Amino acid sequence: MSEKMIQPVRGTHDLLGEDYRKHQWIRDIAYTVAQKYGYEPIATPVIEYSSVFKRTLGETTDIVGKEMYTFEDRGGESLTIRPEGTASVARAVISNSLTQSMPLKLIYDGPMMRYERPQKGRTRQFHQIGVECLGIADPLVDVETIALGVQILSQLGVLSRTVLEINTIGDTASRQAYRQALVDYFTPLSSQLSADSQTRLTHNPLRILDSKNPEDQKLITHAPAFDHYLSDTSREAFNKVCRGLDGLGIAYKRNPLLVRGLDYYCHTAFEFTTTDLGSQGTVLAGGRYDGLIAQMGGPETPAVGWAMGVDRVALMLDRVPKQPRPVAVIAVGEETMETAFQLTMGLRQQGVMVEFSYSGNVGKRMKRADKANACAAILVGTDEIATSQATVRHLDTGEQKRVAFAGLKDYLVDTFKQ
Ligand code: ATP
Ligand code: MG
Repeated sequence: MSEKMIQPVRGTHDLLGEDYRKHQWIRDIAYTVAQKYGYEPIATPVIEYSSVFKRTLGETTDIVGKEMYTFEDRGGESLTIRPEGTASVARAVISNSLTQSMPLKLIYDGPMMRYERPQKGRTRQFHQIGVECLGIADPLVDVETIALGVQILSQLGVLSRTVLEINTIGDTASRQAYRQALVDYFTPLSSQLSADSQTRLTHNPLRILDSKNPEDQKLITHAPAFDHYLSDTSREAFNKVCRGLDGLGIAYKRNPLLVRGLDYYCHTAFEFTTTDLGSQGTVLAGGRYDGLIAQMGGPETPAVGWAMGVDRVALMLDRVPKQPRPVAVIAVGEETMETAFQLTMGLRQQGVMVEFSYSGNVGKRMKRADKANACAAILVGTDEIATSQATVRHLDTGEQKRVAFAGLKDYLVDTFKQ
């Protein structure tokens, strides 16, 4: 194989060992907590017709503009590997006529792909866990969705190293008024804006606020704030969200510059950020997107959700959950191999986690048991076979005991909580 062929594609990597376990743990916690809030899992395909993303995220977003993996398949269809989950879930809700059974709470997870410049916390293939709550307009459900994020980050032990930033981008009328204010402010300064932001100024000025370009950021600091342009209903909705968070004791910081980069957002926008990961600081981000389902051809459907960057959260984890410890069945001498093997398989069928060595002398096998962090070695020699009693050695204490083959499972369960 060529040098290139044995490397993973730039911006992608294999997930194994401790990293894999971190991802798995994050997923387990997220699904367990979300279930308590009434969320049901959904899995959508990793590819969609390109229009699913192009028409919903917005032509001038980073994702659609420069990050999508879009290709023509052999049948001439333009397909895109999903860069995010919300548009796919919205498509699935419509495809499966789930708009008839609102409200709906859905949780998903999986790899996403964006063609970006790889750096710490930013890869081309990355993993998200997302939740979408559809069919409820009450701002209290925004609070519930944020609280779900809080509970998950808290159980993962990272909440205290994040800050919750929130903002509102109002309803359509508020956004139109604000858009005009931004155009009035940025137009005389347009020569100082980055090329990207100059394009945004004509297509979607709100998105200038999302720019990470340092020159843009200087101008953004003095840009008019959304607050003055909010309609009364938008303001009341946002106040209800803030009161709801206060009521639950959830700390947040108002960030008037926080606008979500995608076209389908309205009202509440929020992000959990951290300073642990350099400039890739957002670990969970979301907001309300009342217009999306209708825009895709379904009925008017209020909705709110978020997506968590699993890889970024994994980078923040300082403890990996404890792995369950196996027991090791060790054949003492070649002639006992087959009996030891049968004993191993019998225990596994009864639900015990068992390591079994196929080669090496007893010393080597004991070393392997240690490496597997086994809690006990079950020695099977000729004497053990003759008496149908294994020798069980507790590897932490060195203590030894003879246990009848037939009673092994119960003994291991009682002693090692196997
Ligand atoms: P950023 O501003 O960092 O580019 P984004 O606004 O593009 O983020 P979203 O589309 O809101 O990100 O995705 C939700 C979350 O998914 C992000 O907050 C982040 O944790 C994670 N994420 C997004 N892009 C990547 C990536 N390329 N690599 C790793 N994680 C990512
Ligand atoms: Mg991005």
